Amino acid sequence: MAAQDVEGAGREQPAWHALTAQEALQRLQADPGSGLGEGEAAERLEAHGPNRLPPPQRESALKRFLKQFHNLLIYILLIAGVVTALLGKWLDSAVIFGVVLVNAAIGYLQEGKAEESLDAIRNMLSLRALVLRGGERMTVDAEALVPGDIVLLDAGDRVPADVRILEQRNLRIDEAVLTGESVPVEKADEPVAADAELGDRRPMAFSGTLVASGSGRGVVVATGEATEIGKISTLLAGVESITTPLLRQIGQFGRWLSGAILLLAAATFGVGYYVQGYTAIETFLAAVALAVAAIPQGLPAIMTVTLAVGVQRMARRNAIIRRLPAVEALGSVSTICSDKTGTLTRNEMTVRSVITAEERYRVSGVGYVPDGAFYRGDSDDDSHPVPVAEEPVLAQLLRGVALCNEARLYHREDRWRLQGGPTEGALMVAAVKGGFSREALERAQPRTDVIPFESSYKFMATLHHDHEGNGLIVLKGAPEQVLEACARERTADGDRPVERERWHEVFEALASEGRRLLAVAVKETGADHRELHFDDVREGMTLLGVAGMMDPPRDEAIDAVAGCHRAGIGVKMITGDHAVTAGAIGEQLGIRGDPLVGRDIEAMDDAELGERCLSTDVFARTTPSHKLRLVEALQAHGQIVAMTGDGVNDAPALKRADVGIAMGQKGTEAAKEASEMVLADDNFASIAYAVEEGRTVYDNLRKAILFLLPTNGGEAFTIVGAISLGLALPITPVQILWVNMVTAVTLGLALAFEPAEPGIMARRPRDPEQPILSGVLLWRVLFVSVLLVLGTFGHFAYMEAQGVSEELARSVAINTLVVGELVYLFNARYIRESSLTVQGLLGSRAALLAVAVLVLLQGAFTYAPPLQALFGVAGLSPEQWGRVAAFGAALFLLVELEKALLRRWVLPARG
Ligand code: ADP
Ligand code: MG
Repeated sequence: MAAQDVEGAGREQPAWHALTAQEALQRLQADPGSGLGEGEAAERLEAHGPNRLPPPQRESALKRFLKQFHNLLIYILLIAGVVTALLGKWLDSAVIFGVVLVNAAIGYLQEGKAEESLDAIRNMLSLRALVLRGGERMTVDAEALVPGDIVLLDAGDRVPADVRILEQRNLRIDEAVLTGESVPVEKADEPVAADAELGDRRPMAFSGTLVASGSGRGVVVATGEATEIGKISTLLAGVESITTPLLRQIGQFGRWLSGAILLLAAATFGVGYYVQGYTAIETFLAAVALAVAAIPQGLPAIMTVTLAVGVQRMARRNAIIRRLPAVEALGSVSTICSDKTGTLTRNEMTVRSVITAEERYRVSGVGYVPDGAFYRGDSDDDSHPVPVAEEPVLAQLLRGVALCNEARLYHREDRWRLQGGPTEGALMVAAVKGGFSREALERAQPRTDVIPFESSYKFMATLHHDHEGNGLIVLKGAPEQVLEACARERTADGDRPVERERWHEVFEALASEGRRLLAVAVKETGADHRELHFDDVREGMTLLGVAGMMDPPRDEAIDAVAGCHRAGIGVKMITGDHAVTAGAIGEQLGIRGDPLVGRDIEAMDDAELGERCLSTDVFARTTPSHKLRLVEALQAHGQIVAMTGDGVNDAPALKRADVGIAMGQKGTEAAKEASEMVLADDNFASIAYAVEEGRTVYDNLRKAILFLLPTNGGEAFTIVGAISLGLALPITPVQILWVNMVTAVTLGLALAFEPAEPGIMARRPRDPEQPILSGVLLWRVLFVSVLLVLGTFGHFAYMEAQGVSEELARSVAINTLVVGELVYLFNARYIRESSLTVQGLLGSRAALLAVAVLVLLQGAFTYAPPLQALFGVAGLSPEQWGRVAAFGAALFLLVELEKALLRRWVLPARG
């Protein structure tokens, strides 16, 4: 069949919701049992194109470039440029316009780079879909879907394309993205009227919507731009701009500062013109110089770059930021609530023991390779495996876990692979070791119905019928739950009343070894029992036994937990597992203390929970709803909470947490949607890295401010000083423009790449209320400003006193200023610690590179004849350079001395 014959390829779409499932399948030439073949899928992909929406409309390059000029300072400069031109000062005017242009170009490039790297990171979160192809279930990139594909939908999934539902179970879909309706819509497989509104098309699941609960299977009817969401172009316009609360705060501060500086400039003009008797032009230019000098125009760009660099570093360490404010919040996190299974542990589960009413078995082999056997007892003797066929209860248990299971184990490219979750995978491996295969068992006893696993009720059940019509219910789940439903237990000689006490002891003993437990029970039922209800598995079951699984902690998680504790961050382990299992694993991880179980949490009111949540670090047998209460309780105690999650039900807690963290691998789309950050490797250690990086970003933002403001302060005070004393300007406006431009693109940027300070994870978490420019920082800004003024102004005055040319005196002053800034960059690399170390002086490649570039630029400025003419400067003599260097050394040492005194008297503690 040719792909073009299939409906949907560019032709008018039928009203899929008005067709029966059968008609839809026919039109799409799709096979609901086995899906499309690989060849057919490839052909259709060719015809329909990839299942992706056009990228959001970006602002045009021109518009983004022009936006660089939308800035108070630039307006002032443009006015100054025009005024100087009108006055016939062509050279000055040209330089002003030139610098404005270069500045805009630099801003444009930096912004573009930052956005590009953030986009690249967002693209790491591509959507996957579960499809049926060539008779096999497989996970493919959602972009590879074509009309006619059979897709499987589960709670938490994002619907990957427009789908006509073929069968469903309690399927409810949140269609808010499409219809704005936030209550999930109940789905059905029966057709509806052709003119039904989007929200009433019950047999359809639309691309981009989220499965709120239930599960289903459907056939893809439209992909890419042909989907309903593809038709709504407005949805795609929203591109997140690069900003965070802190950046906004700094932007606000910058605007406020600009306003104040303009007033000051006006006052300077008044003083200069009326009091000191300068000419109007001179004073106007001086006032402009002041504005240029004092407004830290490089700051926003440097902040943005610092943030982008941080986000990139986090991505490299598997923490993918979805919302930028999370970067800041990460730096102040004081409690991390983490899932146990798969995040703190390796999630490589292996069934190690199986216990039935009368026997206990040990299972050999590791991982998903189904090589291994069953041995009686706990002995290490591997020479006498028991034949499973001769152990009727064990055989029934293994058959049960294979039937009541969604995982699939297959051998491909010389490796055993698992499709599905590790818990179920481990059980499937055990079943295969016992000689059973899910395929063969399902042929003999096909599944009639299922209650899927959910962490809120902690079990899964299936109903099967053999070809004689005998029904069998299999229940597997958390042992307490399963035991609760059992009246009897099975032995080789038949059933007998269940001995609850003894089983509880068995569970405790297994759990205390850190084993994850799963009990299995069955119930025989009749041929006409075709639907499985919760009531069916609540009582009258027969217990077959329990499996104990090993899931060792991740080595790196042990280190990361210790690291968090050193950093004053509490780590709480939250799990659905047995309290004793959780306690044992917690012990290995260094998360200690009596576990609090979900039942107790339920019995507590918020106040009580608030008390307990601070002192308890292990929470067991919890359901997702407990997570939300926990986040709220911790936040009520002023904690900044990071919370991990993977399921749909975790979404409220993830949203509520200061930093919601979704699992990249096992997490649902719903969880990712609700969270600020996604862990590409599901690993707790990556959270700790991200926190460290968050602290580093915050540090670097502070360092950038701490570096830039004194630079501006030094320049501004130099000019104010000159005018109020009635002296010639040591630096002209165009020269200041030059200095700001070259230092902003070299020195200022270097701090964005600063690595984490060695002691960064030995500090307490930052108080988020603390303003970024606090006492000590303000003092340092003033202190360094004054030093720079003294050097620049002093050197200029000295040269003037020598009677040298104006050009030379200014050249000397500028180079003094630039060298002062250059050495101060190294002071600024550490806010508190000494920079007078090998690491401090040579440890940053970015800083050294910046210095090299600056030396070249400043050399050209000082010695290249065209630039000399343009900026009105002259070359320095060695003796003058000597004084410049001496000033640099003095400044560096003075700031280091100041730091040492601060360390000694003001900030004795770290942080
Ligand atoms: P966590 O992920 O925190 O370990 P879960 O909510 O996934 O907790 O699991 C809680 C308990 O539910 C497990 O200890 C196990 O007994 C049971 N369980 C887990 N997965 C399944 C499953 N697929 N089918 C049946 N029971 C399960
Ligand atoms: Mg789980």
